[in-house]
Amino acid sequence: MEKNTSEKSDNSGEMKSFASKLIHSGEKYTESVSRSKTIPIVMTSVFSFDDVESLDAVYEGDASGYIYTRNGNPVNDALSEIMANIEEGERALAYSSGMAAIALSLISQVKAGDHVIAASVLYGGSYQFIKTELVRFGIEVSFVDVVNEDITKYFRPNTSAVYVETISNPTMEAIDIQHIAKVSHSFNAKLIVDNTFATPIICQPLLLGADIVVYSATKYLCGHSDVTAGIVVSSTENIDRIYSAGLLYGPTLSPFDAWLLVRSLRTLELRVKQHSQNAIKLAKYFENNPFVTKVYYPGLDSSPTYSIARKNFQNNLFGGMLSIELQGGEKSVYSLLRNLKTIKLVPSLAGVSTSTSYPAKTSHRSFSDAELKKANISKGLVRISVGLDDIESVIAEFDKAISEIE
Ligand SMILES: *Cc1c(COP(=O)(O)O)cnc(C)c1O
Repeated sequence: MEKNTSEKSDNSGEMKSFASKLIHSGEKYTESVSRSKTIPIVMTSVFSFDDVESLDAVYEGDASGYIYTRNGNPVNDALSEIMANIEEGERALAYSSGMAAIALSLISQVKAGDHVIAASVLYGGSYQFIKTELVRFGIEVSFVDVVNEDITKYFRPNTSAVYVETISNPTMEAIDIQHIAKVSHSFNAKLIVDNTFATPIICQPLLLGADIVVYSATKYLCGHSDVTAGIVVSSTENIDRIYSAGLLYGPTLSPFDAWLLVRSLRTLELRVKQHSQNAIKLAKYFENNPFVTKVYYPGLDSSPTYSIARKNFQNNLFGGMLSIELQGGEKSVYSLLRNLKTIKLVPSLAGVSTSTSYPAKTSHRSFSDAELKKANISKGLVRISVGLDDIESVIAEFDKAISEIE
């Protein structure tokens, strides 16, 4: 048997040793007169240079190029550019999760001794980050019911940031971004908006006055339940600060996942339209089912924030997320979730298939009973992520499952 390490001639006539073959084979395929029609995955942690001069030129910004993927990668930049363009922001950045994007956005705007105002109904992770991490760093926090209370009286001289979600989770209330932006700016505070549930197809918070928009790209921007990622969109000035913090905290998005997101974004408009059209049909069905005591969907005229949704949302679309409450509360919920067959219990959202979630035990699991009550999240509330499936079949499955509740 030949030993792997032995020198022997091969077809190329250049690479002789096993190690040389292993390390250098295939390199020529990166050079070609034709180009990939799609943005290729540049799956590399670092980039190579022919000489010190070119390395120096890239560092100094005199030549375009990349150095190290934590600092930048072509696919991640392509993703960021798509997001900046569709959001009408100057620049965007992509991170390895929504929480990374959210944490960096907040960190970039606050310092010890500052005060932050946040909506009392928020994604559980964001709520915990603000309540535990920011507070640990010496930041004062006020949680405010931004739908029913006037936030003006909560501002202090040291308030530097306000944090809200376009559509509250899981009560699906549309937030008056325009009003909150105006008040925030009058107190010299920046407004950060989590637009995950709406997407830029439905709402563009920067155009309504927000300063920074953040996303869990894990949800609709991806849309296929196969990527965990986050996005931040803002002015160049804000993005520069977030970029510097991101370099040091280091939640780099894999170029492979960035590539999947680029691919997903090409169909975002089609998907969000279909999610929304399906959701309004399902919401109307639930409104007419006597066993359903309450339907939360911003596109229903019975929604307390319908007029805000009409004012702030585009294309007459209201998103794919809705919640319901059932007669019999918690016990009925357990029965319903057991009765559903193709509609799975999934502690996330925005996939191609319709799924359910139980916020009291998933996204808001960390909330105490008092916090759940304050956030108006009852134990009889089921959240539904309406998929791209045939909506008549989905309605039929809910109808059967509800009729069989014990
Ligand atoms: C899922 C979610 C997050 C957190 O994003 P990850 O990608 O899971 O880190 C933040 N905000 C909202 C509204 C979400 O739904």
